[in-house]
Amino acid sequence: MPLPKVDAVVIGAGAAGPIVAKELAFAGWRVVLLEKGRWNTPADCRKDDLRNQRNATLGYPFGPEEEGNPRVIVDLNGRERVVRPSEPGYNNNAFCVGGGTLSYGAMAWRFHPNDFRMRSTYAAKIPRAFENSTLEDWPISYDDLEPYYEKAEWEIGVSGDVSGDPFKGPRRRPLPMPPLPPTREHEILEKGARRLGLHPFSIPMLRNSVPYNGRPACMRCRWCVGFACEVDAKNGTQNTVIPAAMATGNLELRTECSAREILLDGKGNATGVAYFDWDGRLWEQPARYVVVSCGAIESARLLLNSRSRLYPQGLGNRFDWVGRNLQGHTYTGANGLFDEIVYDDLGPGASIAICDYVHGNPGLAGGAMLANEFIRLPYQFVSGIRDPDVPRWGRAHKDFVRRAYRRIIPVQGPTQEIPVFDSRVTLDPRVRDKFGIPVARISGYRHPHTIEISEFMAERAAEWLRASGAVKVWLRRAGRGVSAGQHQAGTCRMGNDPKTSVVDAWCRVHDTDNVYVVDSSVHVTNGAYNPVLTIMAIAYRAGERLAREGRRA
Ligand SMILES: Cc1cc2nc3c(=O)[nH]c(=O)nc-3n(C[C@H](O)[C@H](O)[C@H](O)COP(=O)(O)OP(=O)(O)OC[C@H]3O[C@@H](n4cnc5c(N)ncnc54)[C@H](O)[C@@H]3O)c2cc1C
Ligand code: SF4
Repeated sequence: MPLPKVDAVVIGAGAAGPIVAKELAFAGWRVVLLEKGRWNTPADCRKDDLRNQRNATLGYPFGPEEEGNPRVIVDLNGRERVVRPSEPGYNNNAFCVGGGTLSYGAMAWRFHPNDFRMRSTYAAKIPRAFENSTLEDWPISYDDLEPYYEKAEWEIGVSGDVSGDPFKGPRRRPLPMPPLPPTREHEILEKGARRLGLHPFSIPMLRNSVPYNGRPACMRCRWCVGFACEVDAKNGTQNTVIPAAMATGNLELRTECSAREILLDGKGNATGVAYFDWDGRLWEQPARYVVVSCGAIESARLLLNSRSRLYPQGLGNRFDWVGRNLQGHTYTGANGLFDEIVYDDLGPGASIAICDYVHGNPGLAGGAMLANEFIRLPYQFVSGIRDPDVPRWGRAHKDFVRRAYRRIIPVQGPTQEIPVFDSRVTLDPRVRDKFGIPVARISGYRHPHTIEISEFMAERAAEWLRASGAVKVWLRRAGRGVSAGQHQAGTCRMGNDPKTSVVDAWCRVHDTDNVYVVDSSVHVTNGAYNPVLTIMAIAYRAGERLAREGRRA
């Protein structure tokens, strides 16, 4: 059923889409924001260790729903499985207003300048990182994004102190809020880092350390990452740009509305979006511009499902690049057991980081930021952090948990991944979702050099823990299967050449005048840091330009 035409439809109310919607609404555009999930509240996850966005034993509180949203995952041996959202291999982030930003840990990293020029930095020095990989430079630089990093930090709200990081890119302004006071782990790890000659500092966080933007400071509860914040001190799009844009009267947010396809005219431009509402009714929303922001897996799926005579293989897919280069972050590190009590159980937990190993590691094309872990729930402690030499049952297990729960520090980091052409999202030829739309099929592998870098990073984490006084250390190693997860990226690569990329440097899909992809899909590489601040900065840059130069009614 067709609806009145608007200036822009933005699809996906996660980290990126609402920022573009806000820029357009503030410029006077009439905008509709479609979101597949609901507008959730903290009560939806009830502080349940087994049902939060990091542990879906009993399902995800912030979407997607278990029924009707399958994906297909193909393992390294070519075996395929149909998976529900809570099952391993699904690679979920979140489907709700705010997307991942409602329940995230909220680390707010800028990428390093070299993260945008991986070919220029490493092609001559580390040729094996380029064998069977699509490692490339971005068409934009750190300097192009710097003003937009700053805008995200001040408008969404970041606390921290990065003045002690000598490896960061240039910045014009400090962060708007000071860091939260250091935790016990922070103090212990800081001493260890100094002993090694490293440069520790307080992690930048999208979290209020003092009252900011009309909302209170963090009260340091123990249900942070994976949960929505009860006092609204965690800053996401759901409590910043979305309400601001709605207050202009120019933005209409439609929740529980799932885009089926982008509608195309004979010249290959978009005329609007076909979507299903909560009741399964099919609507057509005509628009001058369509902005896609469904997360790296679902944005690729939507483009592949948007076909026309000109685009028989999917919108933007003339050269078979949509869905390619799927990447995330290989998380490796180490856990250290201490004699003394080290864990004070104060949220958000993560507090201290080092960036000494982000670049410049001998024989390696990249590295990672290393930080201590967020708050840890007992279930997570038992399943992931515990000493692998201790039995998982009986008296020995119980004694260990009693003794060690507050004596272990996990340190880890997001390894910069080497992108691979064959790690990808395609459409499954058989499996469909509850609306009858073909689902994402995820296949591929990690590049061997990614494994090399992540092994090196695990050793560095272990070294840091030992220097901090750990009496026993064990490593967390990487798997070899395809990477995506909550840091999924890369499936609609940004580039200047339409033959080897999907969008241009302003996020416009090549060959179209009016379709944009603005989320983590456009990342050429995914940096050595958590990605969300970069996602937000790219969205601010694309949204500001579209608001300035786009045509509206
Ligand atoms: C528990 C957790 C912890 C995290 N911690 C951090 C951290 O500390 N730091 C960091 O940098 N990152 C963190 N992340 C990752 C971060 O949240 C993501 O990188 C970021 O949200 C991705 O932004 P996006 O805009 O690409 O996609 P998303 O935020 O995933 O948004 C996509 C939105 O599109 C909607 N959508 C999908 N398909 C459709 C459709 N067909 N129609 C309509 N809507 C659709 C989805 O429902 C979703 O709301 C974390 C994530 C989680 C879940
Ligand atoms: S630790 Fe702070 S930001 Fe996190 S949920 Fe608790 S109060 Fe909110």
